[in-house]
Amino acid sequence: MKRFFNFLICIVLFLAMPVTSLCQNDLAKIKYVFYIIGDGMGINHVLGTEQYNIGTESGPEIVNFLHFPVRTIITTESATSLVTDSAASGTALASGVKTYEGAIGVGEDGLPVPALTELAKASGKGTGVITSVGINHATPGSFLAHSKSRGNYEEIALDYIASPVDFAAGAGFITERKSGHNASYFEQKATDAGIKVYHGKREWSSMSASDEYVLCLSGKAEAELPYAIDRMEDDTTLPEFVSAGISYLESRFAENGFFMMVEGGKIDYAGHADDGATCFQEINDLAVATDHILDFYERYPEETLIVVTADHETGGLMLGAGLYEMHPDRMKAQKMSANALTRLFNTTFSKGKKPVWEDAKEFLRDHLGLWEDVDVDKKTEKELKEIFDRNYGSSDAKEESVVNLYSSNSLFIQRAIGYLNNTAGYYWSYTSHSGSPVGLFAKGQGAEKFISARDNTDIAPIISELAGYEK
Ligand SMILES: [Zn+2]
Repeated sequence: MKRFFNFLICIVLFLAMPVTSLCQNDLAKIKYVFYIIGDGMGINHVLGTEQYNIGTESGPEIVNFLHFPVRTIITTESATSLVTDSAASGTALASGVKTYEGAIGVGEDGLPVPALTELAKASGKGTGVITSVGINHATPGSFLAHSKSRGNYEEIALDYIASPVDFAAGAGFITERKSGHNASYFEQKATDAGIKVYHGKREWSSMSASDEYVLCLSGKAEAELPYAIDRMEDDTTLPEFVSAGISYLESRFAENGFFMMVEGGKIDYAGHADDGATCFQEINDLAVATDHILDFYERYPEETLIVVTADHETGGLMLGAGLYEMHPDRMKAQKMSANALTRLFNTTFSKGKKPVWEDAKEFLRDHLGLWEDVDVDKKTEKELKEIFDRNYGSSDAKEESVVNLYSSNSLFIQRAIGYLNNTAGYYWSYTSHSGSPVGLFAKGQGAEKFISARDNTDIAPIISELAGYEK
């Protein structure tokens, strides 16, 4: 009788709100949740990526998630500032709680707040946390740990190791100088705790459903994957992590389903460096990871929910400034990040050979298309030559660097990339986060529910309710 009554209520609700509401029986079907976070991925970054892809033919004409059926905007401020950091916003996205900057999985009072991973686990689901940066960095940390400060990398790593998260993947562990423990210390701790640790894709091809807990690492020393634009053939990639995570979780949790968080962590790094082509290729990489998730969705469309969003905007990216036009095609020659170009420039010109301006011009022509795909105005050429003469023109010259949160690039390369970005129409306001809203893109079962979301704290409760997680 009760079931019949529930059925009647569902029919009434369905007829009353056919577009935005689902009855509980439908919601109960959601077995698989994918929560994709582009760190620092503002709306302009995503639209800018499509423009860049079309103009340069360096990526798909459509960034898949930008065309999801549900699209809205989300505010990102923290409890203490209108401009958030990745820890406060990571905690808001993971737990639905506003907190102070630097807080990892704790509220304003410093006490732990439950993350979606924990709620999913308590509900019998499998759980996965995947990132392209360190596994104990702010965003994944917010889904894996509880700490009063994002800088407590050791505490966050050990908290993850003690957690019941089934599948984790990231470039490596970020270490703390004060403790003296290196990355292998944490890997050993993970192994001791029963986590099977794999280094690189060749190793994890032997991963099996009998592994109780899994940690996939890049197999390289760095605690971040290389930028997609700099990638070498044997480098581990974010889409490969996602593919491995789906296979593992599907094989182990076919009955109850799973929750997976995927972070494109280096979109933010490229935003801090005001490096457009590098940033757009990171977003393309997140879209390839999303392609793998969409393949999964095609197999279980009635049971899968995909939500894509960002923790904040980075760099204050504008699309066009001054002139009413853009020329993304002008960026087609850049095939390396500002950071990799700085290294290449230094190696090319530091082998006992005094660099001459014509050689430096040729370097910028080859690697950024300046004076070839892009005209360089007289004022900018004069400025670049002055920097070059000051930095490399004499035996006692010293290179000036532009230091941002995650990298240090030569002023010469940074200025050349800045000019290239501007002439294409991409203007970066600063090398840090902004308080601009970000996009939310949803597809699959229950996606309509996100139309009501307006702040980053709204997302986790909606996911939790839709997937029927324990409160
Ligand atoms: Zn950042």
